[in-house]
Amino acid sequence: SAARSGASPPAPAMAGAAAPSADEVERAHGLGAIAPRPMTMVRGEGAALFDAEGRRYIDATSSYGVACLGHGHAGLARSVADQAARLTALTVGYGSDVRAAYVTELLDALGSPFERVFLCNSGTEAIEAALKVARHLSGRTGFVACARGFHGRTFGALGATAEPRYREPFAPLVPGFDHVPFGDADAMREAVGPATAAVVLEPIQGEGGVRPAPAGYLAEVRRICDEAGALLILDEVQTGFGRTGELFAFQGEGVTPDIVALAKGIAGGVPMGAIALRAGLGPMPLGSHGSTFGGSPLACAAALFTLRTLREEALPARAARFGEHALERLRAEAGRRVREVRGRGLMIGIELRTPAAPVLDALVERGVLALGAGRTVVRLLPPLVIDAKDWDEVLDAVLEVTR
Ligand code: PLP
Repeated sequence: SAARSGASPPAPAMAGAAAPSADEVERAHGLGAIAPRPMTMVRGEGAALFDAEGRRYIDATSSYGVACLGHGHAGLARSVADQAARLTALTVGYGSDVRAAYVTELLDALGSPFERVFLCNSGTEAIEAALKVARHLSGRTGFVACARGFHGRTFGALGATAEPRYREPFAPLVPGFDHVPFGDADAMREAVGPATAAVVLEPIQGEGGVRPAPAGYLAEVRRICDEAGALLILDEVQTGFGRTGELFAFQGEGVTPDIVALAKGIAGGVPMGAIALRAGLGPMPLGSHGSTFGGSPLACAAALFTLRTLREEALPARAARFGEHALERLRAEAGRRVREVRGRGLMIGIELRTPAAPVLDALVERGVLALGAGRTVVRLLPPLVIDAKDWDEVLDAVLEVTR
């Protein structure tokens, strides 16, 4: 099939000059806000990416945690192609067989008491929707989020995102957001009050350095919200869909949010986001929110295939096993440059005593793609299908370059 053939598109013909590489084109003509590495990826297979020269890299990024089923998945490709041929675009102004099937299975996977779903196209849009729903349904305007939290880059979500370098160039932001230290229940209790519409946080902070919530913290935040009549929005954009060893991280905490925000791995690589609301929340008034692309049959087909595969192949449990192995190995064998190893499932952070950027470069040299998370943390988010050999190769490389 095309997904497996490895054929790359022909380079554009340019008389007299060598054609620029893809990363050169993108550096010259992109917004400039992201600097692509000097390499051109043309194909993926499982946990591997291949560049234009045919070099194989183990992808311990999953493209920021998106490609949970790996790259070039034949079944996912087939479900997308079949749906594209049947019906690609259909707004939520009409019922869709595949959308209804997906919403039903997503609610089943989330478990009771979730009852309503809004589908959109990215994580930041899911957070925007959650914030709007929370303000509207609570009649309150305040939000409390956490230091080091990351919730996206559109204006509403940026209010919840903590990092000053993402926020300050774009002030004034949407008013109403307070930030408290993550993991500090007393600070949370102090900040949440009768004007608080919702608390917004990640069960494990991802961009902020792979920081799991301390034991009991989420349950305490749940109590604080209940006492104040505030909603709890859990941002599972990065932790959702098996990443942390449960289908959703809240399921391992015994804490149920009022609204959960989802994206990244939701559709195996096809752009999609979602929020789910617990029973008793909503409906929102007609016309109060919407999205042209949200809930497209194409994305829903990809999401349905992804969710079924995650459950049928028990990939969350696999992520838990592979994650425990990684934590054990990294903690036992870490060299002097490693300050701490954190994480759950296939969401692993290695905090260094030195900057992460040179370590990420050294990993690329060894054929391993990894992510940063803040200045000093190396983050591993491999596809949940990575095999044991590739995973140990990633760990070998990380140990070697952090000695
Ligand atoms: N929330 C969390 C926890 C994230 O990690 C991210 C992205 O990294 C977002 C929200 C924003 O998602 P997106 O980049 O799809 O807008």
